[in-house]
Amino acid sequence: MAPERLERIRALLDRAGAPAAVITSPENRRYLSGFTGSAGVLVVGYDRAYLLVDPRYTEQARQEARNFSVVEVQESWVESLAALVTDHGWSVLGYEDEHLSCRQFKNLQDKLGSVRFVPLSDVDALRLVKTEAEIALIRQGVRLVDTAFDFVLGRVLPGRREQDVALDIEIFLRRNGAERTAFPTIVASGPRSALPHGVASDRIIGYNELVIIDCGAVCGGYCSDFTRTVVTTEPLPWQEEIYNVVLEAQQAAIATIRAGVEAHVVDAAARQVIETHGYGAYFGHGTGHGLGLAVHEAPRLGKKETLELRAGMVVTVEPGIYLPERGGVRIEDVVVVREDGCEVLTRAPKNRLLCVG
Ligand code: ZN
Ligand code: ZN
Repeated sequence: MAPERLERIRALLDRAGAPAAVITSPENRRYLSGFTGSAGVLVVGYDRAYLLVDPRYTEQARQEARNFSVVEVQESWVESLAALVTDHGWSVLGYEDEHLSCRQFKNLQDKLGSVRFVPLSDVDALRLVKTEAEIALIRQGVRLVDTAFDFVLGRVLPGRREQDVALDIEIFLRRNGAERTAFPTIVASGPRSALPHGVASDRIIGYNELVIIDCGAVCGGYCSDFTRTVVTTEPLPWQEEIYNVVLEAQQAAIATIRAGVEAHVVDAAARQVIETHGYGAYFGHGTGHGLGLAVHEAPRLGKKETLELRAGMVVTVEPGIYLPERGGVRIEDVVVVREDGCEVLTRAPKNRLLCVG
């Protein structure tokens, strides 16, 4: 991992008046140390940084986290932390208040009674702006889901269970280079497409039905996220109508994205199109979210989000209309914020409601 990231967290420590921080969230652990294992805790001080792992991970941690001293945890990481606190004479520790559970926090206080804990709420924000190397990994995942969508378009959907279609997509992603899927694939057909997060069920896909397909691939730890809505056989007029409104809303939102714009402006652009067409009540979620080591991270593109977009942030743009008991449409692309506009990474076709046999 780049020592530059350690410098940035040390700047946070300065601001919080803490000589060291305990980092427990999996994404921040990986981001700061380069360690890809599924368990471990970072302790970052001014002059030294430690990675606490159990014996399963000692070797891997030494190889991956070059700027960290690896500490093999014997009993519990809190015991190992207590030893470091004594060695360094730390009386204050920063911690991630957004990620530590109440139980973990209480345990820390019990075992480290003399230490004062100060919340560090900005650790996640270190990951907001991506480097081109990070963007390249997201781009790789987006390519994969683009081709997975091509694969779906070439198949027959009616008569098949949503779950089976989702499984085909997941196998396709894995076989073509995804480390894993970013989340369980959504295939929501007919009335179920009105559920914004209807994971694939055993429902059999019928004719003249909207089908929302939402999937993501993880490449090099970075997530992609993708949604297209198709119709089986022939579209009905209401289905085409809501599709075209969502498309217009999505394009309006994308057109606002550039460095310096506050996140709520993007949401408002999509919402205004949907409201103008009379479907405001059927668009219940935010317009998008940040994407990176986590599939949902800052910035949120929501009504009240005042965070200013900066070049290098990566967001999804995914408005939708969901008509209860009838069906829904969502279109989701991945977009990189640039100084003078944005770059849409997703290339799968979207300009009209596509029919799948
Ligand atoms: Zn999304
Ligand atoms: Zn999605």
